[in-house]
Amino acid sequence: MTYNEESPILTKIIATLGPASANVQTLVRMIEEGVRVVRINFSHGKIEDFERMLKVIREASNAAGEPIAALGDLCGPKIRCLGVEGGTLELEPGDQVCFTKDPVDARRDPETGLVTVGTTFPEIIDDAEAGHRLLVNDGAIRMLIIDKSDDEPASLTCSVTVGGTLSPKKGINLPDSDLNAPSLTEWDRRCAGFAYEKGFDYLALSFVRKAEDVEELKSLLCDHTKTKPDPNGRSPIPIIAKIEMPQAIEALDGIIDSADGVMVARGDLGVELDLARVPILQKQIIKTAHNHGKPVIVATQMLESMIDNASPTRAEVSDVANAILDGADATMLSGETAVGKFPVPTVHYMGRTARRAEQHLERNLLREVMPPKHAQATKHRPAALAHGVSVMVRDLHAKCVVMWTASGGGVRYMSQNRLAVPIVALCEEPAVLRQMALMFGVRPVYAQTPSDPRLVLDTADQILLERGWADRGDPILVARGFPMGVVGTTNTVQVHYVGDVCRI
Ligand code: PGA
Ligand code: MN
Repeated sequence: MTYNEESPILTKIIATLGPASANVQTLVRMIEEGVRVVRINFSHGKIEDFERMLKVIREASNAAGEPIAALGDLCGPKIRCLGVEGGTLELEPGDQVCFTKDPVDARRDPETGLVTVGTTFPEIIDDAEAGHRLLVNDGAIRMLIIDKSDDEPASLTCSVTVGGTLSPKKGINLPDSDLNAPSLTEWDRRCAGFAYEKGFDYLALSFVRKAEDVEELKSLLCDHTKTKPDPNGRSPIPIIAKIEMPQAIEALDGIIDSADGVMVARGDLGVELDLARVPILQKQIIKTAHNHGKPVIVATQMLESMIDNASPTRAEVSDVANAILDGADATMLSGETAVGKFPVPTVHYMGRTARRAEQHLERNLLREVMPPKHAQATKHRPAALAHGVSVMVRDLHAKCVVMWTASGGGVRYMSQNRLAVPIVALCEEPAVLRQMALMFGVRPVYAQTPSDPRLVLDTADQILLERGWADRGDPILVARGFPMGVVGTTNTVQVHYVGDVCRI
């Protein structure tokens, strides 16, 4: 099999929206290059900004004729410094820094040289202890807590071990401290309510520490629906748990079980845990997510240098390919598309690299064809059918799988088998089409459920031929439920040759 530039990209590309990309024209081009999920980071901006961005996503999706999922990213309890008097402040090794409960801007006492810093979470001062590390600006500035004082206002005194420039609102990590910060801040609650009202397709939650954090967000969203929680524990908006804390690694199985997907959030993960562990943690998180049959996103610094440069480094392209070889369902761009100079070329590089990695997996039969352990254990009909289809796809060299779906459930199971060919998911529900945009290998297409089951194959042929996704005579597999349009009935699979009218 030779490399084919035209073949579909099975890996889902997520792009973060920001000043560099939050206009319909640019976003349409990014979608043409392979973006299927667009992330709005609630850490930057106001509700009005997010509303405007969501409109851009919906308009670009219409213009490109492609269902696109909007992913809202909740900040969670991210601890930050407040302002800095005079804009910046230079910290040298050996400097003493006092973190205070007072909401003050950072400043250096001209007489004693002592630096005082206020934070967004004064409670950290209660939870941290002498001997713990305190890291600022993604670990660029490092300090050791040497003293704790309960005198009003309570404070922590630190000694700088690695210096640097402190600027306003920089993030703080306390990897050794067990923090009692709430899992959802007031701001998160506002953003989640807004996301529910506006119909966001996914919500990501930062700094998840335990499964209960995910459950708390779920019940907050259920309060908005004013209905009882779903008996199967499903969230009104599917939730992606961001894995970036040591406690989350300990509680990984429970978190993945509660959530609808996970993100390997390598930015904070590499600060909270030893940076050298990140590549292995990435593999372990991906494997655990697969066992549970949940999609997994690899995020942060994937093509970082393209923020400023028109082409990536060799190491970055290798990183994208390796994330896919590890089994990522989706790869994410952050600053590259939010504030970078080359948002469209960045997506282009990611897409081409993904296609190469996918074709390598298939050529060498390296892709795991085992269904998720969890689904196998439950002996669930759509899960077993999906696994059967994955074997038939290989035996027949099928061009694609076509599925009719009402809720996306059967398609989710099919996607978990990580087929080497696209799953064309036909559905008449726009919200379901958008959610399926995150699923590995799935091409969601709007189509009305045929009134007569005899029209199923004709409709599938027509869609595939019209779009050039298959030629006459190509073998395909068609999976659907019977009766059609009823949730949870995926029970039938047909082997079909495109255009073949000879059927029994
Ligand atoms: P963030 O999450 O960009 O919201 O911090 C991703 C990460 O930490 O890698
Ligand atoms: Mn993070």
